[in-house]
Amino acid sequence: YDAKRANLGFRLYRPNGEGPSRDRLALGEELRRGIAAGELEVHYQPQTDIARRRMVGVEALVRWRHPERGLLFPDTFISLAEDLGIVRDLTRHVLQTAVDQAATWRASGHDLSVAVNLALADLLDPELPAVVDAALARSGLPAHRLVLEITEDVAMTDEDHIVAVLARLRDRGVELALDDFGTGLSSLARLRRLPVQELKIDRSFVMGIDAGDEDASIVRMTIELGHALGIRVVAEGVETEAALDLLASQRCDTAQGFHFSRPVPATELTGLLEVGVAGLAQPESAIVITR
Ligand code: C2E
Ligand code: MG
Ligand code: MG
Ligand code: MG
Repeated sequence: YDAKRANLGFRLYRPNGEGPSRDRLALGEELRRGIAAGELEVHYQPQTDIARRRMVGVEALVRWRHPERGLLFPDTFISLAEDLGIVRDLTRHVLQTAVDQAATWRASGHDLSVAVNLALADLLDPELPAVVDAALARSGLPAHRLVLEITEDVAMTDEDHIVAVLARLRDRGVELALDDFGTGLSSLARLRRLPVQELKIDRSFVMGIDAGDEDASIVRMTIELGHALGIRVVAEGVETEAALDLLASQRCDTAQGFHFSRPVPATELTGLLEVGVAGLAQPESAIVITR
């Protein structure tokens, strides 16, 4: 029995058995308040069709505009939100914001897909399919322009329930992506059972990729695996032209990374759409800017 925790009215589960630090508890309370106060922001990172060199989608990535601590990145608060059981509130906000934004871009002539990250708690939430339906209906975005990302670890939990939930989402026409692929314990039998349309190779394999090295072999084999299963392959963590060229030679479908752009606020992404990203095909009417 932990009097200190009981007094706070909630419990924090730490997988490693450590008690939560006072700082973490305080941040948790602030996160509850911050979500309600509208302090979460969604930034967008371009995804580029490698063969056509065109932006075809964006990934929505959450940030927390903390009043005193400044802009916080998800690594500092997603696991906290999971521990507190409030990640579903976070997801609802990000999902609705992202599909509304994608619908706005669409209305101005930019046909982009938008990818939203889900946590395990989202997939265990019986309301998730209805939440997705409502978000799409409100925004008017076609279902096939929404991609829901789940990490390999979550997808590989041995709950048949996950496969059933994914199938229900898929029935709606939403696309599904397996995120951080290569870092978890995949079984090929299970991968074949998952109704996913996209594999995202984890950035740890892509960032330092060099022709002839081990990472290049892993990436090449992952691309071949995806294509053998009829799944398109996205490389995340593309930081250089050399990495992009190598991925192009390996027939990777899509690239995402700092080489094109960091995740940016919606207004900046709109700017990239109007003016074009360095190294990408420009929209017909746009001015070409060289950096
Ligand atoms: P992720 O889904 O794998 O997202 C990609 C991460 O890689 C992002 O970090 C992005 O900024 C970073 N990244 C992209 N390109 C490059 C590159 O070229 N080099 C390097 N070094 N990094 C790159 P971010 O935004 O800090 O997000 C971290 C993780 O937090 C995400 O990993 C995702 O798992 C999680 N996350 C982000 N937003 C949400 C959300 O709304 N809900 C949930 N459940 N998780 C989220
Ligand atoms: Mg992701
Ligand atoms: Mg990822
Ligand atoms: Mg990753």
